Amino acid sequence: MILTIVKYPDPVLARPGEPITEFNAELRKLVADMFETMYDGQGIGLAAPQVGVSKRLLVIDLSVGKVPEDKLVLINPEIISTQGKLYEEEGCLSFPDIREKVQRHAKVRIRAQDEYGKWFEMDGEDVLSRCFQHEIDHVDGMQFIFRMSALKRDLVLRKIRKLIRNGEW
Ligand SMILES: [Zn+2]
Repeated sequence: MILTIVKYPDPVLARPGEPITEFNAELRKLVADMFETMYDGQGIGLAAPQVGVSKRLLVIDLSVGKVPEDKLVLINPEIISTQGKLYEEEGCLSFPDIREKVQRHAKVRIRAQDEYGKWFEMDGEDVLSRCFQHEIDHVDGMQFIFRMSALKRDLVLRKIRKLIRNGEW
């Protein structure tokens, strides 16, 4: 089922998600729906707050549905180490058509649970590193515009306000 993606400035995007404690069929249905929703939006990552669910859950697939092994489910994720820096353009399904450069770590190691509650650790670099950081930010209630320079953020917010006024957001 394709879920509705909430857009800025929906308050759910600014709220830290609740930890997940029950690894049941309902959770796995939400995971499946989030993948479907992410593919529909041609995204490579989607966090539960972006579908209005304030929980610490996110899905990633850098292949956008082409390579089954690329599907990643991160529940109660945390970054346990970081290395280096990256400054690349990012987009976000909750900010349609907005693309801006954001400062990130070049490599991160994450720890998370899968949809059955099993803990795992994983390294990510380049795009995967950025994706981990962008989506883990979402479950912390952090949106990528707040990782931009103040100047860029002001320009983006002005553009969004204009789109909202014109009924185009
Ligand atoms: Zn996002």
